[in-house]
Amino acid sequence: MIEDKNQQRTPLSDLGEFGLIDHLTKNFKITQKSTVKGIGDDAAVLNFENKKIVVTTDLLVEGVHFDLSYMPLKHLGYKSVIVNLSDVCAMNALPSQITVSIAVSNRFPLEALEELYAGIETAASIYNIDVVGGDTTSSASGLLISVTAIGIVEGNNEVYRKGAKPNDLLVVSGDIGGAYMGLQILEREKEVFKVNPNNQPDLEPYTYVVERQLKPEARKDIVKLLQDLEVKPTSMIDISDGLSSEIIHICKQSEVGCDLFEEKIPLDPTVISTCEEFNIDSTTIALNGGEDYELLFTISQADFPKIKGNPSLTVIGFIKEKEAGLHLVTRADTRIPIQAKGWKNFNA
Ligand code: ADP
Ligand code: MG
Repeated sequence: MIEDKNQQRTPLSDLGEFGLIDHLTKNFKITQKSTVKGIGDDAAVLNFENKKIVVTTDLLVEGVHFDLSYMPLKHLGYKSVIVNLSDVCAMNALPSQITVSIAVSNRFPLEALEELYAGIETAASIYNIDVVGGDTTSSASGLLISVTAIGIVEGNNEVYRKGAKPNDLLVVSGDIGGAYMGLQILEREKEVFKVNPNNQPDLEPYTYVVERQLKPEARKDIVKLLQDLEVKPTSMIDISDGLSSEIIHICKQSEVGCDLFEEKIPLDPTVISTCEEFNIDSTTIALNGGEDYELLFTISQADFPKIKGNPSLTVIGFIKEKEAGLHLVTRADTRIPIQAKGWKNFNA
């Protein structure tokens, strides 16, 4: 549905490995003080002057993590950077460098990789990070992309999943469930397209959720905001798998329990209307959908006045003793245990 039949197709073999690397990386600029040497030697050289750094990596495989029939390559490049920057932010660190490794089959022409790298470059420039290396190789089938991200921690500001204490508040940034509903829209359009390739989908009413799926953002702004507000979360994680699974991670590692209030979960109106259209419960989607890349964290109650009223942050729960367990407190004031999957049955 996004394929352009008139596209030029230059075989990768025309450039050779080194020509390809040069071609793809020629636009990357170095902006970080900590980058001493970027692309072009056997290894990059970074200088963090006694600061702590965080390192994280992700591997994305075609057909497993992304589907190129509705994921434009430019968006894929952007998103593969974002998912890593989000992990850096979830440590309360600010991203500074990435490396990008790709394995490509000969099905991909140079123009496809140019698109992928245009997305990578856009993310690097928006988030102000340097691309300092990578690796390029061929694959028997499909595309693999692996990004490694590095970030800087100020002082002892790093925040772990472990650290939430009873009486802390559970806070989420932005709103959730959008990325999952965007995927439902794209998959529905893909099925329609298979039956009638001439059908032009009208995605306009779904712009917000489709963007949440195709062009997610890492909440670097929230890490900065928390620094400005002088709030150090007691624990933090990014929402890649869904709210319930992330809450379970925090509570398990912190050895605490939690009450999550259904009525507090922030949902965009488009998520609510799309859920109605698909006849699914929006709380189910918020809890079990994923890929929103918002930050979920706990703060001490003493810090509440500092975040109160901030439109980017919503208090959605309350940390309890471990023995209290993990519960969703519904609008009807019933208490449902939060489980990785099982609780879904309650709404069936
Ligand atoms: P080596 O043989 O040591 O692996 P390469 O020829 O693969 O070196 O890489 C040369 C330079 O280009 C290195 O700095 C490497 O980090 C960088 N590089 C290679 N592939 C990529 C890529 N896909 N994206 C960004 N940088 C890359
Ligand atoms: Mg190499």
